[in-house]
Amino acid sequence: MLGVIGAMTEEVQLMRAQMTDVTTSTHAQTEFMQGTYKGTEIALAQSGIGKVNATICTQIMIDLFKPKKMVFSGVAGGLLPNMRVGDIIVASHVVQYDMDLTAFGRRHGESPGRDRLIECDPDLVGRATAAFDAAYDTVLTNNDFQPPSLMLGTVASGDRFVQDTDTLRWLQREFAALATEMEGAAFGYTCHLNGLPFAVIRALSDGASETATGDFEDNLHKACQNSFHLMDKLIPASMSERRSGERRGPEFRVA
Ligand code: SAH
Repeated sequence: MLGVIGAMTEEVQLMRAQMTDVTTSTHAQTEFMQGTYKGTEIALAQSGIGKVNATICTQIMIDLFKPKKMVFSGVAGGLLPNMRVGDIIVASHVVQYDMDLTAFGRRHGESPGRDRLIECDPDLVGRATAAFDAAYDTVLTNNDFQPPSLMLGTVASGDRFVQDTDTLRWLQREFAALATEMEGAAFGYTCHLNGLPFAVIRALSDGASETATGDFEDNLHKACQNSFHLMDKLIPASMSERRSGERRGPEFRVA
């Protein structure tokens, strides 16, 4: 069983439409769907926006559906000037950037007894990059906007829609982050504490700058299409046995 979570309706409905044998149940006002996605058993849920919602949804999914691996899919704001809407970010690490115990001499994102940056599962990251390549030739280049780039790096999460250049620069410099959103780190921390491999896949909807709100609204649909096309390849590949010689994911180590 693979656990799949998105925050908003737009982020889960394309995957939901491809599921068969679906049973639904509601827990903590959150709907969970269990079924088959192109031969792979999955649990799918829409968490709602923000770290609290993401945490609750992730822990319930782990407890009730006992997934072996977890993937979060959705949209994000890109933090580098050369990024474009639709580009795909596969998180190597996630960080909860608004955890602030700097008053005690700690670094932003650091809390006692917890890692500051949490590493995503290298194997799932490798499968996600392979899924990007598989989707690229068939669907990602075949729509009405620029062919997307794939980038691997840190995703910084906080309970705030970022729409200012000062914050986006700070996130880039403080965490070497590529993108910001509002759920990935909460999801990742929860998976990590439960000992589950996880990945966070994001398509860029905006550039987290002063025009981000309008850009987000204009591009949400297009960006969700891109993350969906990647998920459509990743879900069936995510649980398969690894063949010898198959690409392994990158290994990152952060002290
Ligand atoms: N439409 C909502 C608000 C969306 S919040 C409303 O009606 O209030 C933005 C969502 O997209 C979050 O789930 C977040 O994870 C992601 N996101 C995209 N761009 C972002 C940005 N610039 N800053 C923070 N989160 C962003």
